[in-house]
Amino acid sequence: MKTDIYNALQELRQSSKYMIGYPLNLKFDYSEIFDFLAYHINNIGDPFVLSRLGIDSKQIEQNCIKYFAQLYDLPDYWGYITSGGTEGNIYGILMGRELHPDGIFYCSEDSHYSVTKAAYLLNLPYVTISSQQNGEINYEHLQYEISQRKQHSAILNLNLGTTMKGAVDKIDRVVDILEKVQIPFHIHCDAALGGMLLPFIDEAPKISFQDYPIGSIAISGHKFLGSPIPYGVLITRKTLERKLEKNIEYIATKDTTITGSRSGLAAILLWDAITTRKEKFAQEVSTCIKNSCYLYERLQKMGYHPMLNDYSTTVVFDQPAYKICNKWHLATQGNLAHIVVMLHVSREKIDRFLDDLSVNS
Ligand SMILES: *Cc1c(COP(=O)(O)O)cnc(C)c1O
Repeated sequence: MKTDIYNALQELRQSSKYMIGYPLNLKFDYSEIFDFLAYHINNIGDPFVLSRLGIDSKQIEQNCIKYFAQLYDLPDYWGYITSGGTEGNIYGILMGRELHPDGIFYCSEDSHYSVTKAAYLLNLPYVTISSQQNGEINYEHLQYEISQRKQHSAILNLNLGTTMKGAVDKIDRVVDILEKVQIPFHIHCDAALGGMLLPFIDEAPKISFQDYPIGSIAISGHKFLGSPIPYGVLITRKTLERKLEKNIEYIATKDTTITGSRSGLAAILLWDAITTRKEKFAQEVSTCIKNSCYLYERLQKMGYHPMLNDYSTTVVFDQPAYKICNKWHLATQGNLAHIVVMLHVSREKIDRFLDDLSVNS
């Protein structure tokens, strides 16, 4: 191995040991699929229309999309593997715009920055809704702002786990508001992390396309599932997909996706994760929740005023010394910091962090 590449590897080994402050699961094992690294795998265009390109993993990608469609209770589905949560959000919001050209976009102030970026890219007029203390959307404010614009359709982003506080917006309450105001709407769910947590928590609200008029949902693959490369999943109703359809002779498939070439390796990684771990997902989520409760209790005793939302493993607390935030890669916002308890954030790791914290406070 070349020296500079080797050095990069050493640095990565070191910094990965202290990664607890972002929603990234570092505990994964894809050694069974190493052989795929010798190939270029390109899922260009629509996953359900095979391309002349041919060196792809679209059959596997279709299995992945089907898994998520079932997870979210959607018999007539369409979707694809994206480059990440951001692309899924852009796609879902783009669908909203195509279906409702007169639409105004609504999202809470706790939404991920990719959400307002999507509105900017799509030239969508948007209204920012205030959040509650816990990061959940303020329903009264949402109702007020929508009522002020009754002559326009509404395109909404709802967060199923906000980035900073892990708050889950209540789909049923938002649907009640929309039905009261009686305007056409498209609901996009940003479920980057929560999309893999909520379905495996018994008490959590269901993410169900059958129970609620949801239009689209975006999930990040590298968050709960974990992966050596970033990717995401976008799921929508088959009936809504048509809008963006275009046949392209050059690739002999349909250009229904935002990017052209897409990672076929991501589909292999995702299907490997699903098939080897699907029976264990509930157990994995429960371990993360238990560990986040443990971290919460310890931080409370230490006087760091922690907060832990329902159905979340994100523990928010008073921002500690700069040195600690840097070493443990803690994401900060104002005077807050957070730890996202993912699978690799074990009790031992939490204890090591807390020891460090008590010495350096
Ligand atoms: C991480 C995150 C995103 C963006 O996902 P990427 O995969 O980094 O593009 C979007 N929304 C939320 C709530 C997130 O936490």
